[in-house]
Order: sequence, then C-alpha cells, then structure tokens
Amino acid sequence: MTVALPEQATRKYDLGFARWVRDNVNGGAKMSMCMQCGMCSGSCPIGTEMDQGPRKLFMMIRAGMKDEVFNSSTIWNCTSCYNCTVRCPRGVPVTYIIQDLAAKAVEFGYVKKVENARFAKAFWWSAKTFGRTDERLMTAKYYFSFGLVEGMKRGLANLKIAIGMVRTKRMHIGMPHKIKDTKGLQAILAKAAEIDARESKGGA
Ligand code: SF4
Ligand code: SF4
Repeated sequence: MTVALPEQATRKYDLGFARWVRDNVNGGAKMSMCMQCGMCSGSCPIGTEMDQGPRKLFMMIRAGMKDEVFNSSTIWNCTSCYNCTVRCPRGVPVTYIIQDLAAKAVEFGYVKKVENARFAKAFWWSAKTFGRTDERLMTAKYYFSFGLVEGMKRGLANLKIAIGMVRTKRMHIGMPHKIKDTKGLQAILAKAAEIDARESKGGA
C-alpha cells in the first residue's frame, strides 16, 4: 500500500539558501536582523494579493525553501512602495531584498512558472523599446509568451473588450506611441545596467 506523504515530507530544502541570499542578494546581508515581528507584512498595502508576505518569505528563506521562494507571488506582486522598509524596526531593507529576489528568479529561469513575471517582462519590453507602454503590443507579447495556441485563445477571449476600448478611444490603432528620444533612453538604460553590474561585482 502506498502511503501519501504530506507536502512537507516531500519538499526539498536547500540548507545553504539563506547563506546564498546573504551573500548574493541586494540587502541580503541584513536579513539576519529580522526578528519575525510581522510589521512588514502588516504594513503591506497589497499583502492580500501575496501568497506569503515578506515576513513569511524571510522565514522560508531561513528554512531553505528555495523553489517556493522563487515561485512565490510575493516577489512579483510587490509594488516597491517601501512601507515595509521604512517601518521595519530592525532596519531590514525588505523592498531591496524582494526586488532582487525577483531579478534572480528571472536569471534562474523560474519565470516560466510565474504568470505575473511574464506580464512584468512584457511590460518592461514595451517600456524600454518605446519609452511607454503600448497596451496592444504589450498584451500580445504577454499572451503569446504562453505559446501560439494559448496566445490566440487569450486574444480572442478579450477581443470584445479590445474593440470596445478602440471605439471609446481608450486604445489607439496604428503605430505604437513612442517617446521622442528612444536612443537616449537606451543609452540611460545601458548605463544603469553597467553601474548595476559593477556594483554587484563589488558586492555593494
Ligand atoms: S518588519 Fe523587519 S524585523 Fe519585522 S518581520 Fe519584517 S523584516 Fe523582519
Ligand atoms: S515594498 Fe512591497 S512588500 Fe513592502 S510594503 Fe510595499 S508592496 Fe509590500
């Protein structure tokens, strides 16, 4: 007879994960200051939209629940409002840690399983290409990130809404709206990436 094990019994733990976060994640060195008071989660305006919340996420990091942390909606739904960071009594830079965990999740390929991350990627693509969000192209990129068939299915399911938006002038047709100096924007972003890479190397 096969006995079904509870989820906790089959879960994989990475016991070096907390150390890795400490050494590789922006702000991670201060995570050991966390005393699990819950001020961050209690202050988060969108905590109800997160599966864990920052306090629990930090506990999961300590427990070595690497996959659950990188697949958590907490790192993708965070709006970077900094409420948690300014209220943390131990000075833990909660927002930086969450933001960098999201960046690392992209780097390690966890994004494929997280729907919000696909949306964030499409949003970023539009922002850096046009300097603005083009609803049509961004939505198409997001839908087709699920594959051709799923993309068409999602597009058709929302066709009526899209037509309504065009009719009421909430969405335009034609060439995407762009800022005037997209080359200038690319140069700024390239410089920011260069600074970021330099600071990451230096462990800043
Ligand atoms: S507010 Fe600070 S100390 Fe309290 S649980 Fe959050 S990170 Fe930890
Ligand atoms: S920065 Fe993110 S985690 Fe912190 S309170 Fe704001 S939304 Fe919540």
